[in-house]
Amino acid sequence: MNTVRILLVEDEEHIRRFVRLSLTEAGYEVFEAGSLQRGLIEAGTRRPDLVVLDLGLPDGDGLDLIRDVRTWSPMPLIVLSARSAEADKILALDAGADDYLVKPFGSGELLARVRAQLRRQQHQAGAGQSTIAFGDILIDLGKRTASRQGHPLHLTPIEYRLLTYLAAHPERVLTHQQLLLAVWGPGHASDSHYVRVHMANLRKKIEVDAARPQFLHTEVGIGYRFVPLPTTAPEPDQGSASAG
Ligand code: CA
Repeated sequence: MNTVRILLVEDEEHIRRFVRLSLTEAGYEVFEAGSLQRGLIEAGTRRPDLVVLDLGLPDGDGLDLIRDVRTWSPMPLIVLSARSAEADKILALDAGADDYLVKPFGSGELLARVRAQLRRQQHQAGAGQSTIAFGDILIDLGKRTASRQGHPLHLTPIEYRLLTYLAAHPERVLTHQQLLLAVWGPGHASDSHYVRVHMANLRKKIEVDAARPQFLHTEVGIGYRFVPLPTTAPEPDQGSASAG
């Protein structure tokens, strides 16, 4: 298997070293950049599999790198952010970042986020599928239905769109804004209470315990993250699942 190549764009030397060591010890190949310009060049020439980037760079804003990369690649982008910079996180996610880590973060957390994004990317490489399965839920995209353990879930059209959009973007932090645009359309950009209300109803239908969701996680003040737990739903056309 090819080594996964990660570009790290961070101007703070001690954080860059910490991230580089964590990633290389885990077997990833790491390229480094300490500025926005260097980051843009490395992203374009190295064509990494994933980028970890700081937003506050000495010669510009990491947002510009996110926007640039998004014009030519869907590669996972993980933002390193200061605790106080909530608005920056939202801007970065709206610009196309997939996830963020709040400084200070541990090596375990960093690697878990990286693995989740790489899984997501692999998953999307196999897109074009007609069903999405997670936990005991099965979504049939052709029939536009969802079921739990074979029993139909009675979702409203909005709930169905919300669920399928989230499920099509596993492990990504989706902002209220992104969900409004995708599910309700451009006329509802400021109606973030829509998302909260319909998400609450959707949770009641698909979560075992809506107060402790397994699939639809809240990112406080930002939006939601869909976590696709391994499927236990019967898949009629599949062979037997591999053991372990
Ligand atoms: Ca910085």
